[in-house]
This record gives sequence, C-alpha cells and structure tokens, in this order.
Amino acid sequence: MYFGPGKKVERSQEIWHGNIWKESLQFGCASIKINGVVIREILYKHQGHWKIRNVAYSYRYPSKFALLEEPETNLPIYKLYIDFYFDDFGTFQNVYHLLGRVYIQIGNLPFDKRKQLKNHFVLGFVPFSGSFEEFIAPFVAEMKMLENGKIMDVQGTKSIVIASLGDITANLPQGNDLVGVKRHSATRGCRTCNTTKDSWTSNNIDLPLISRYHHLTDRQFEEISAAPTITRRNEIAAEYGLWTCSPILDNLKRERHLQSSHDVYHATARKVLRFLRITIDALSPEGKLAFILAWKTFEYPRSWQKLPNPISHIESFMMSDSLHLAMVIPFILNRILKPQNFKQSEIDKFRSQTGVSRSDLVIKLWLKCWILVTKTMSMAFMHSFTKEDYTKLRECLDNERRLLSQAFEDFENLPNLHINLHLILHAKNYATLLNTGVVRHLFDGGIDGHHLSSMNNTLNNLPHHLKWLMNDWFIAEKSLDYDDDISEGLI
Ligand SMILES: [Zn+2]
Repeated sequence: MYFGPGKKVERSQEIWHGNIWKESLQFGCASIKINGVVIREILYKHQGHWKIRNVAYSYRYPSKFALLEEPETNLPIYKLYIDFYFDDFGTFQNVYHLLGRVYIQIGNLPFDKRKQLKNHFVLGFVPFSGSFEEFIAPFVAEMKMLENGKIMDVQGTKSIVIASLGDITANLPQGNDLVGVKRHSATRGCRTCNTTKDSWTSNNIDLPLISRYHHLTDRQFEEISAAPTITRRNEIAAEYGLWTCSPILDNLKRERHLQSSHDVYHATARKVLRFLRITIDALSPEGKLAFILAWKTFEYPRSWQKLPNPISHIESFMMSDSLHLAMVIPFILNRILKPQNFKQSEIDKFRSQTGVSRSDLVIKLWLKCWILVTKTMSMAFMHSFTKEDYTKLRECLDNERRLLSQAFEDFENLPNLHINLHLILHAKNYATLLNTGVVRHLFDGGIDGHHLSSMNNTLNNLPHHLKWLMNDWFIAEKSLDYDDDISEGLI
C-alpha cells in the first residue's frame, strides 16, 4: 500500500516489505506541498471526453489523514502496519449459523511469509449475533496506543514500535460494516462508490465523480449526527447509504474507503459459480449428457484433486472447486458446442438479450463469455503487473462486466460484478490483488478446509496453469482464439 508519488518501477509487485515500505507517507513524516499553487479543479477524461471536477472528489494523500508523528528519540524505531481480516464462516459445512472470524497479519512481511498459516494471528471469533464493536474495542484501544509508539524490547534492544492499520479485507457484507456503509440491499450499498444499485453494472459510471472519499464521508457522518430528530437522521443516512454513526475502526488512522479493498477471491469464486449454474441450467438433457462425458474424459492436470460432478453436486461446490473448474470449462464447452446441446428457450432468451441472430453464434458467444471470465480470473491473480498488464486487467474487468451484465439477466447489477469497477484501483494501490484474497483461503477451514494445500498451490500458479492450458497442453481440433475481441459476436 503506497499512496505517495515518486516510485516508478517497470513491474509492480508488493513493495510494502523490506526497506521500501518505510518510504510510504503513511509510515513516514513526509507531506505533500505544492508551493504557492492551490489546486481547485481537476481535468480528467471520461469515456473519451474531457471533464472538470472539483478537487474535493479525489483521494487525499495519507499525510492528510494518517500522519504518524515520529517521536524524537535515539532509540531505534520500527514501524508496522497491521492488515485486518474479518469474515463469517459456517462452523461446519453447510451449517447456516455463522461465526465471525477476525485475524490480523503484519503487512510488512514479504508475501511468501504472509501466506504461511503461522503468520496469521487470530484475534478471536465473534459468536453468531454477538456484538462486533464490543469484541473489537480492546484491539482498537491497543492499536491507538501503538499509533503513538510504544517502547518494546526488540531482540534485547529497547526500541520504539509504531503500528497502524493497513488493509482491511472482508466479504462484501462485513466489509461494508467495517466502513460504516449500508449493506448491498440498500440503494447506495457500495463501500467504494455512491452508485445506486439499479446501475451497478452500468457503462456510464463516472467513477472519480461518484467515488466515496474519506473526507466527504466524514462530513456526511457529521451531518447525520447533527440531525435534529432520529427520523431525520435515518433519512439522511439512507440517502448517503451510511450507518447512523461512524464505525468503531474510525477511531484509528485510515482512509476508510481506500483501505477496505474488495475480496477478489470470494468475488471471483461466486461469480464463476453463478455462471456455472446458469450454463448448466441452459443445457438440454442431451447437452447435460455431453457435458458430463466431456467433463469425465477431460485431461486434468495430475496434481488436481478430483472435482465433484458439477451437474449433480453443484450445491455442495467449494469455492476452490469453482475456481478450478473455471479453468477448464471453456475447453469442455468447446467440445460440446452444438445448438442442440442448449435448450431452445435459453438460446432465444440469450438472443434477445444480446441481439445475436443465429443459434450457432449464440453458443459461440456463450463460450466467449466463459473465456473472458477465465481470462479475467487469470489476470486478477497475477503476481506482478507492468503498466501494460494494468491496462489489460482493466480491459478484462470492463469487458467481463459489460458482456455478462448484457447477456445474462442474473448478472445485471450484481454486486460481485460491480466491484470489477474498483478492482483496478485496488490493484494499483496495492500493486496486485493477491493480498486481498489469496491469504484468506488459508483460514477457510469451515468452507474450504480440505482443499487448503492444493488450493494454495493452484491459486499461486493460476496464470501458469492457464498459460499451460491455453498454449501447450490442450489439443483442440480448432484452437480457441483467446485474445479475440469478445464484443465482435454482438451484432
Ligand atoms: Zn462501487
């Protein structure tokens, strides 16, 4: 997490470990000054047109909201930032009652250390219906002390340790709670922007103008608390999509919106599972038989665990299963790509959604949707990014959002597809998207526990697996045009 200027690298990787992280403004004492020049407006490009927005609609440098005073001392100073994870999980598989699980990590650790189980520190479990605020209050109090620095014995040397909140990762609902934004059923239930839920996958979102900014949200919370009556307070809160009071983590120094990234692992897995359900439901009885045959005879990598039957066992699919399957579905579909394998009613529905006229083009476009989902997944899980990679990631995320929301009613205004708009920002702020997703599955004991080791390996090697699947190993009668313009199927 580096918000400041001055670091230019060819290939972005996480730079918050080693020595470089110390340069971050949040953990140093630098500030940004542009002598004598006051910036009031920002010129920016939206959908090919130049526009001007007030400077208030932009993220501020951490020196404005999270300046940590460096104590005057001769003692060595160590600065840590603490990544915070919170989600609900079933105590046993398929058990509805959920337990909230909170754990932290030291964000300065290199990525290969951070993903180790021993470097996840469990703060505790919030019982079903228990109060999160009550649970987390002692942690917040300790973090407040650490923000000011605490003298500790570090390997026999008295030192000052300063710690601050880093990235906060949570599922969609819990993530909103931690920011003080209403959940996704509210009109404005996105924790990163103010888009209304009826246009979450719209193409006309002017993101800089509609994003949530910490300083603006502060003012909205002030307005809510100054309301003369409870009714008025609720009305204003509903209008802004905020809670009636700010969340407990606001006691710590942070940019609540920038530091609450979306969980790419859960979002991708749920998106894939939904698309899998839609695709299987669209198959004719003949198509289902052909699908099962292709699925059974598929040449899976030897290192993969056996996947459950996606037609008979889809309800018990693990998230890791769906990510595995996403890698092979384009190939399996390619083997059964005949109009009679799809229900006529589904072809007609798809046709009216997309405007594609011929049945054979419909199923080709369906396949292209899968290729796009798989390609987006492989980009989202990349270990490092060049400038060109960020551009490709943006294209993938935008194309996936556009195409899926246009082609399938079930994807229209879906929160997990809406966050495609925000993932590029998270990727750029945190160098990659891996920190917000992959480490979490290590603790998915209640959900993904028995897939733990293989999943870890697979996700880390996902781009490699995909490359392998796409280029060297799969023998197709007609090769898939992987980089084909996905929109060309739309007539
Ligand atoms: Zn949003």
